[in-house]
This record gives sequence, structure tokens and C-alpha cells, in this order.
Amino acid sequence: MARVESTSIRVSTSSRFQLVDITARIQEWLATINAGDGILLVYSPHTTAGVIVNEAEPGLMEDILDLLREITRPGGGWRHNRIDDNAHAHLAQVLVGDSRVIPVARGSLALGTWQRVMLLEMDGPRSRRLNLVYIGS
Ligand code: ZN
Repeated sequence: MARVESTSIRVSTSSRFQLVDITARIQEWLATINAGDGILLVYSPHTTAGVIVNEAEPGLMEDILDLLREITRPGGGWRHNRIDDNAHAHLAQVLVGDSRVIPVARGSLALGTWQRVMLLEMDGPRSRRLNLVYIGS
């Protein structure tokens, strides 16, 4: 039988649009549960914030936010903006997804050299919660 461990972490964002590198916090939790080999689910239970895996180079992080702003047009004529001025954030979350599953090897996230796990905030600043679920040895 595989072990299943779970927790949630709080991530505070300070801008309307922001990427927050959460790799170290996830790794710290994997250490506290003495993880072995398995998989980790990182899940955002939010409709306006997602999870991505990519390079946390500051210029690229701004490029990613610019791309998503261009595609989702904050303040554009979306129907949802009639009741809640954040349609762009919902649409960005639809595009990037609510979660990632990452392999864990000998207790560490098995990421590529340049890969980092990041929270995508599109309607901040807010306090966000991310659910982490580890399944493995
Ligand atoms: Zn909304």
C-alpha cells in the first residue's frame, strides 16, 4: 500500500498579477514527511489562480504574465465582468490549469534543472491556499 500524506500551504500574493516560486516550500514539506519515491499533486482550489511549472527567471516570469494578460484582456468586454471584474483571471486559470503532478524521487521533487513550481496569481493581492497530496513510499 502506498502512503498518502496531505497538507495545505498559504501563499500571500502582493500584486494583481504575480508568479510565486513555491518549490522550496514544497520541498520543505516533503522533508518533514520523510517522503520517498512517489508523486506529488499541487492543487489550487481557486478559480482565479493556477499552478505552473517553468523557469523562475524574472524576465520570463514577466513575459508569462504579459502573455496571459494579452490573451485574457483584463477589463475586456467579458460577460463575467458585469458581476465580478475578474473574468481575465478565470480565463487564465482555465488556460494554465488548477494543478500539476510532479514525480518525487528519494524525497525530492524530480524537476528538470530549470523547472520551478509556481503559483499563478491573476486576481491578487490575496492569501491563497494550495493543497499538496503526496502518494508514494
Ligand atoms: Zn469572478
